[in-house]
Amino acid sequence: MIIDNQILYAMGDNRETAIRVPQNQAVTFHTRDCFNGQITSEDYVMDGLDWNHINPATGPVYVEGARAGDVLKVEILEIELEEEGTMCCLPDNGVLGRDIRESSVKKIPVKNGYCLFHDKKLPLKPMIGVIGVAPEGEPVPCGTPGNHGGNMDNTRIAPGSTLYLPVFQDGAYFACGDVHACMGDGEIMVSGVEIGAKVTVKFEVVKGVTIDSPRLEDGEYIYTIASDKDLEKAVYQATKAMCEVLEKHLGYSLNEAGMLMSACGTLQFCQVVDPERTVSMAVPKTVCDKIL
Ligand code: CA
Ligand code: CA
Repeated sequence: MIIDNQILYAMGDNRETAIRVPQNQAVTFHTRDCFNGQITSEDYVMDGLDWNHINPATGPVYVEGARAGDVLKVEILEIELEEEGTMCCLPDNGVLGRDIRESSVKKIPVKNGYCLFHDKKLPLKPMIGVIGVAPEGEPVPCGTPGNHGGNMDNTRIAPGSTLYLPVFQDGAYFACGDVHACMGDGEIMVSGVEIGAKVTVKFEVVKGVTIDSPRLEDGEYIYTIASDKDLEKAVYQATKAMCEVLEKHLGYSLNEAGMLMSACGTLQFCQVVDPERTVSMAVPKTVCDKIL
């Protein structure tokens, strides 16, 4: 099943035109780059960028069987990339924004398993920047992360990983976009190697468990993810969510769960450049392999 031309700019929009998709079947989303293809060359003048049409996500889809209060399990099966990515930087944007004098654009060829940055060969690490469901209330712009997912820019949301999202609306109304061919943790200049892609996922609805914010697992780690305008609050929320996972599954007290995280957990900056920052807490599966 292929979801192609249907896009949205805010999670929760276009619910009336959502395509119904079954559980346990591969669904492929053709995603556009975060600039919606507006940046066609390195000569592009960033002043002309139409900011109302950036961060398109492909969807939404109505996942059959998903009811408010359930958990939507999203297995990332495959990401097929286009052949060229785009990066840019802009004054006053990103960690070094105050030092940037003028904007610039860089086109990054994607070839033979690498992103080519001048003579540097960066191994491809395809990941999904924007991925989520309709939020509880009003639609939320795709550029904003939150408990519904959205622009989390977590490098671990990649083939082989499984994302768990709270379902706020019957059908979930899932959408995704903003794929990166590779990106460093933190996304410090506000772009990874932005690229169009074909993202293949599989949905499953988990009943009888409720989560407040996104969680993730891959072969090695379980993760809790949190976003907030205040980076310290995001750090607290991700850590607190993981603490609750460890208390529940290991039967530990808060002190013990906290010390365990302090001994072997990894606090990761997903992105620190959007108005809402995103962080995650990772714990090795050798310590706890249950995330729900
Ligand atoms: Ca992003
Ligand atoms: Ca991006």
